[in-house]
Amino acid sequence: MDIQKIRSEFPILERRLYNKPLIYLDNTATSQTPDSVVKAVVDGYTTTKANVHRGVHTLSQEATDLQESARRRVREWINAGSESEIIFTRGTTEALNLVASSFGGMMLREGDELILTVMEHHANIVPWQLLRDRIGFTIKVVPIDGRGVLDMDAYRGMFTERTRLVSFAHASNVLGTVNPVREMIAIAHSHGVPAVVDGAQAAPHMRIDVRDLDADFYAFSAHKMYGPTGVGVLYGKEKWLEKMPPYQGGGEMIESVSFEKTTYAELPYKFEAGTPDFIGISALSKAIDFIERLGIDNIAAHEHQLLDYTTRRMMDEIPGMRIFGQAPGKCAIISFLVGDIHHYDMGMLLDKLGIEVRTGHHCAQPLMHAIGVEGVVRASFAAYNTIEESDAFIAALKRVTAILQS
Ligand code: PMP
Repeated sequence: MDIQKIRSEFPILERRLYNKPLIYLDNTATSQTPDSVVKAVVDGYTTTKANVHRGVHTLSQEATDLQESARRRVREWINAGSESEIIFTRGTTEALNLVASSFGGMMLREGDELILTVMEHHANIVPWQLLRDRIGFTIKVVPIDGRGVLDMDAYRGMFTERTRLVSFAHASNVLGTVNPVREMIAIAHSHGVPAVVDGAQAAPHMRIDVRDLDADFYAFSAHKMYGPTGVGVLYGKEKWLEKMPPYQGGGEMIESVSFEKTTYAELPYKFEAGTPDFIGISALSKAIDFIERLGIDNIAAHEHQLLDYTTRRMMDEIPGMRIFGQAPGKCAIISFLVGDIHHYDMGMLLDKLGIEVRTGHHCAQPLMHAIGVEGVVRASFAAYNTIEESDAFIAALKRVTAILQS
């Protein structure tokens, strides 16, 4: 990959902060957006803005075509069987809330069991807890070992005749662990239990094939994969989506409405109440084009090179360095602490050197508890990061560490 050429597609990377070049290492939270995606948003607002699905007029039809061709693009990209299985949401969070509320509400009864893992993002914990508080089922949690690898024996042993659902992250947003989701899904299916996958951290870094995984549901966010904010995808198997009740009511999701009885639209519209972010949705297809132009395997190889190089230098050259998450094959996320330096202090000083990293609990408080810390500093890489940026990050870490330890 020609990194300099790729970088030239991201104008934000030319910014300077505190008179230093911006070094953006907060890609796990959100990635930056290439010109082609920004242009699709601008084009949407300047040439084709009209509400989708409701109009006979030309603009509305063009806007609808753009949205529906994005749905086809997403379907191909994740190898779903049909466009009916692609539901556009506001993001992973809304997708998981939809599954918990609609599918969970249909599957779980008092006394039943749901399996999650300890490394889940709050988006894959709290929606289930909201449901649990209404219904009264039990949530079981798969633990991890010291490297951040899931305890698969514990997972296997958790299934009982009361297990109705499992839900887990494809990749952890803190540890970088890539879970063996295909195997986990197969185990769940061998017990007749459907599986929900939070793919927010996997979609930007690896090839997703929902049919090969045999996932029942798979959720991800556009903004983490070079796409626009406010758009996400929920893939769901048609056999489930057909049976599930709508999540939200309103326009677009109905077939007919009377005060006596309402019937619902066909899939996927049954789950898309209200005006969607149709401009963002059409820009998502440009983000997929961007990823495919680079090649997801090339992106992953580049990110792994940065991960290995940076991890080694951090461990070798910074005394007191602790890295959380050493799973083999992890994705390019480095969560760390140095000595007893507070993560906020580290993050604030790195920012003054132009380096954007994230600090805190990363919406994974149960995981923080399990690894025995209150928060960590997290650096994470994307296709446009360079070895030179990694060198600058290491130099900055040394400087900041010296200041905070003096
Ligand atoms: N799950 C994981 C693993 C994540 O990393 C995130 C975002 N940090 C989410 C869910 C939620 O994504 P969003 O905020 O885009 O809805």
